[in-house]
Amino acid sequence: MPTYKTPLRDIRFVMNELLNFEGHYRALPGGEDAIEVTDAILEEGAKFAENVLTPLNLPGDQQGCSLEDGVVTVPDGFKEAYQQYVDGGWPSMTQNPEYGGQGLPHSLGLVMNEMICSSNLAWGMYPGLSHGAMSALEHHGTEELKQTYLTKLIEGRWTGTMCLTEPHCGTDLGLIKTRAIPEADGSYKVSGTKIFISAGEHELSENIVHLVLAKLPDAPAGSKGISLFVVPKFLPDAAGEAGERNGVVCGSLEHKMGIHGNSTCVMNFDDATGYMVGQPNKGLAAMFTMMNAARIGVGIQGQALIEVSFQNALAYARDRLQMRALSGPKAPEKAADPIIVHPDVRRMLLTQKAFSEGGRALILYTAQLVDLVEYGSDEDKKEADEILGLLTPIVKAFLTEVGFEATNEGVQVFGGHGFIQEWGMEQFVRDARITRLYEGTTGIQALDLLGRKILMNQGETLRKFTKQIHKYCQSISQQELMHDFAKPLIELNKEWGDLTMKIGMSAMKNREEVGAASVDYLMYSGYVVLAYFWAQMAEIAQKKLAEGSSEQAFYQAKLDTARFYYARLLPRTRAHAAAMTAGVDCLLAMEESAFGLGFEV
Ligand SMILES: Cc1cc2nc3c(=O)[nH]c(=O)nc-3n(C[C@H](O)[C@H](O)[C@H](O)COP(=O)(O)OP(=O)(O)OC[C@H]3O[C@@H](n4cnc5c(N)ncnc54)[C@H](O)[C@@H]3O)c2cc1C
Repeated sequence: MPTYKTPLRDIRFVMNELLNFEGHYRALPGGEDAIEVTDAILEEGAKFAENVLTPLNLPGDQQGCSLEDGVVTVPDGFKEAYQQYVDGGWPSMTQNPEYGGQGLPHSLGLVMNEMICSSNLAWGMYPGLSHGAMSALEHHGTEELKQTYLTKLIEGRWTGTMCLTEPHCGTDLGLIKTRAIPEADGSYKVSGTKIFISAGEHELSENIVHLVLAKLPDAPAGSKGISLFVVPKFLPDAAGEAGERNGVVCGSLEHKMGIHGNSTCVMNFDDATGYMVGQPNKGLAAMFTMMNAARIGVGIQGQALIEVSFQNALAYARDRLQMRALSGPKAPEKAADPIIVHPDVRRMLLTQKAFSEGGRALILYTAQLVDLVEYGSDEDKKEADEILGLLTPIVKAFLTEVGFEATNEGVQVFGGHGFIQEWGMEQFVRDARITRLYEGTTGIQALDLLGRKILMNQGETLRKFTKQIHKYCQSISQQELMHDFAKPLIELNKEWGDLTMKIGMSAMKNREEVGAASVDYLMYSGYVVLAYFWAQMAEIAQKKLAEGSSEQAFYQAKLDTARFYYARLLPRTRAHAAAMTAGVDCLLAMEESAFGLGFEV
């Protein structure tokens, strides 16, 4: 059975040494409280993840969820773990005090998220979905909706869902068919079928608050005609508690590749009573509030799965004896050397380590931007919002793409044993696979990055971010020890802008060029962004080593991982640069009818 140990030393390295969270919190209103409780949150979160959630992960995967007479049963122990989570006050940690929250910065919740997702992703999705619902209600709900629903979600007694997808549409939500008919009392009757609804039905909480996209009878066609509704499983009674059953039921559960412990439901809405959130036909804006938070959450899932896969692969590689090192025995007293001596096994482990630790730096940097958007000054808010918008598709798609690659490497380190269920390594791959799909596939994130976030504002936000990297490069360019990092980063940072310009020019002639370049562009961007963080981590490590820190081994490992990233992973930008500029012709030249000529008559 796999194990998990919260990487507290590394989390603290990123928070304290790389990103100065203390200074960041000090600048936020009420941030002193966050400074005071950070350590306790890390320690308690780690205990909960290691002792409560980790032991439920593999059995939860094997048991899965079941549906009988409309009742979904989750794996053994999940309900008790959820109660412990609620008793510990975790759901309210970063929520608004006006509605019962503790008002701590969102970044602390995101740190906790990594621990939860490493230890038990399927379980983590139950409280995770509530966060999207809370953020939509907080930003777009009326006071009455907030008092009725947000307060209960914050307490954790009720949980939330996001009901967007329908059988005929996932990416293109303008096609939804679910209807909402206005009633005389201001409520709506919602009817339609939603599929793939995570945490759609279960008995962990007293009530489930569905946030549902639907169309009003006179709605304009397409995405301009979408509205958002709250549809509770149980209608609140006079005391505001879960009362009469509403017209929403789970029709069936999906049998799926991974996250077996999370119920993925077909939800049937049949004249269910709902209440509008936000303005009529402006549901897309409200929905994006949910989705942006959720997209960063999914990026964390990718990174968190790399971390736990890496920890287990490392333990195995130290223990497993096979063959001798090419240069001669390293453990002559044993029958063979541990496989960690082999360069190729080290390549796999370092790939995992570099993506997990680099990904953590990117995520926690993004987490600070989330705090600034919520609590910063007007000027900080605007700036942070722009950069956050740019980085969100990278966090979501890059970290889940490399998350899938790196968890696969975890299986590979185990050899054939990695393919066997009882070791748990294949579960990480199966669980990681969904992260590339939900909350917008990689293809859609890539279009968002290149099209909406970059080309549509003439590269202005990208220029701001590359300027920031450039400034950093200048600050290290005179340091001899940083030469190996500064030079490639300066070149790539400049090339990032040049490639953007090139694609922008060809897109002016043919808009299809954007779609042809986008995924390679996103991956390229991800590698450059991680290189920016790895350079900064290498700089800190070198300084600490030079100062004679008592943690020489930790900082040396940081530096070695940074060097590995630059030497072995960053060169992948060459292939992405070549592919993204190869143009659309090779993709569109073939007639559609010719695709299957090898097997169709
Ligand atoms: C386990 C699981 C849990 C989920 N949880 C939820 C949930 O809680 N709530 C919810 O509402 N939904 C949920 N989903 C749905 C998920 O968000 C969608 O499956 C996803 O957004 C993709 O939509 P689709 O499956 O309809 O694929 P499609 O939209 O049909 O896409 C198919 C393929 O076409 C590509 N494609 C589509 N349009 C374009 C384009 N314009 N340009 C380039 N490529 C394009 C896509 O990238 C993809 O590769 C879940 C799905 C799963 C499997």
